Amino acid sequence: MTDIRVRIAPSPTGPVHVGTAYQALFDLVLARQHGGKFVLRIEDTDQTRSRREYEEHIFQALKWMGLDWDEGPDVGGEYGPYRQSERLEIYQAHAKQLVEGGHAYPCFCTSERLGALRAEQMQNKERLGYDGHCRGLGAEEVAQRSGEDHVIRLKMPGEGKCVVKDQLRGKIELDFGQLDDQVLMKSDGFPTYHMAVVVDDHLMKISHVIRGEEWITSTPKHLVLYEAFGWEVPEYMHLPLLLNPDGSKMSKRRNPTSVEYYRRAGYLPQALLNYLALMAYPPIGEEKFSFDQLIEDFDAEKINLGGSIFDIEKLNWLNGRYVREDKTPEQLLDDLKGWLLNDDYVGQMLPLLQQRMETLGDFMPQVAFFFARKVEPSAEDLVPKKREVEEVVPMLQTAVWALDGVLAWDKEGVEAALRGVAEYWDWPVRDVTVPLIAALTGEKVGSPLFESAALLGQDMTRMRILDAMKVLGGLSKKKAARLEKEWKRK
Ligand code: GLU
Repeated sequence: MTDIRVRIAPSPTGPVHVGTAYQALFDLVLARQHGGKFVLRIEDTDQTRSRREYEEHIFQALKWMGLDWDEGPDVGGEYGPYRQSERLEIYQAHAKQLVEGGHAYPCFCTSERLGALRAEQMQNKERLGYDGHCRGLGAEEVAQRSGEDHVIRLKMPGEGKCVVKDQLRGKIELDFGQLDDQVLMKSDGFPTYHMAVVVDDHLMKISHVIRGEEWITSTPKHLVLYEAFGWEVPEYMHLPLLLNPDGSKMSKRRNPTSVEYYRRAGYLPQALLNYLALMAYPPIGEEKFSFDQLIEDFDAEKINLGGSIFDIEKLNWLNGRYVREDKTPEQLLDDLKGWLLNDDYVGQMLPLLQQRMETLGDFMPQVAFFFARKVEPSAEDLVPKKREVEEVVPMLQTAVWALDGVLAWDKEGVEAALRGVAEYWDWPVRDVTVPLIAALTGEKVGSPLFESAALLGQDMTRMRILDAMKVLGGLSKKKAARLEKEWKRK
C-alpha cells in the first residue's frame, strides 16, 4: 500500500462540531494502523466567516480528545503552509494552468446578471445554475477584459455519468447533467472549497480522503479537476452522518453539537471518543473499547453505513462506565482538577460571589450551577411578573440566536447581545435578564448574569437556554421559522 496520509480540513467558522472529531478519529485510526501521517489543514477561505479564535478552538478540541496531528499550521510539516489563506498563490497558479489547458475559463458575469438568470430559471421552473454564458468567449475578448472583475469556472461535462469510487460503498453513479460550471476562483483571488480541496489533497499527498457523506455529491466536481490536472485520485471514504434521535442531520438546534459543550459538561474524552467510534463501527467484543483496541481491530469493511443516531442517554451510560470502572479516586480527582476544579476557574468565580458571602460555607452552594451538567429552573422563575409564557419562550429563542452571534465570548459580548434582545422586543432589560438568570443558574436570584454566562461558556449557555425553553413547553417549528425571519430582518 502507498504511504497512508489522511487529513481533516475543518473551517474555523464556529464551535468545533463533534462530527469533526468523529472524522478525525477515523483518520487517526487509519494513520496509526499503518504508520501513516495525520494532517490538520485549516480551511479558512471563507473570509467573512473564518476567525482565528475558532482555529484555536479546533486545536484545543482535538487535543482534548487526544486526536493529535502530525502536520498542521502549529506544528509545521513538509507540505505546508497548512492554512489555506496562506496558499493563495498556489491556487492562483493552478487556476492559470487550468485556463491555459482549456479546462477552465474566466467568467465576467455580474451578480446582477446571475440574479436575473436565477429569477428567470425559477419562473420557468428550470434547473437553477449557471448557463455557460462566458464559456465560449474568444481569447481576444478575454485578454481585453482581463482587468475586469471575474471568477474562474471549471468546464463541467454537462452530461453523462460519473462514477465515484468509495471504499465503503463501492461504485456510486452520479449524473454530470446536474452540475453546472463550478466556480474555482472567486473574484477576490480566493479559491472555492472545490479548488482548494483538490489542489491541497494532491500537493499534500493525501492518500485517503475521509469525510462526511454529505460531500459525495461534490465528488464529481473533484474528479473532473483531478482529470484536468492529470493527477491520481485519492481513495474516498464517506462516513455516515451523525443524526438526531428523530433521524434528521445532527444539528445544534436540537442537540448540543460542539466538542466544547461535552468537555464543559464533564464528559471524559475517552468516553466521547469511544462513543463517536460506535457511531460507525460495531462493538469490539463489547461497546466499551479503547482507541488502541480500535486501531488493532480496524477494518473499513466493518463500518456500517446506516447513519447513526447520536443519543446522549447512551453516551451518559458509556461515560458512567468509564468513570466507575476505569478510574481510581486519585485519577478522578485529577480529572476534576483538569476540568474546572482549579485555581484558574474557581478564581474567576470568586469575584462574582464574594459580596454575597457571609462565611466560606456559602461558596459551594452558590457556585454549584457552574459545575452542574444541567440545572432545573422552575417555570415560575423563568417568567417575570406581568409577562406570559407565550412571550418569554420566543424571547429566549432570540436570546439563543443573539448569543450565537457573539464572537468574543466575554461579559461585554454577552451583555451587548442581550441588550439587543431587549431592544428587539422593546422590553425593559430586566425582563430579559430575569428568565435568563433562572435558565442559567436554576435559581431565581444568583450570581450576575453577564459574567456568569461568560464563565459558563457559549455552548453551555446555549444548552441551558434551550432546556429552559423546553420547561416552558418549547416553540413549534413553524413559530420558530416565522420568528427567525423577523429576527433576521431587524
Ligand atoms: N471543510 C470541509 C468540512 O469540514 C472539508 C470537507 C472535506 O473533508 O473535504 O466539512
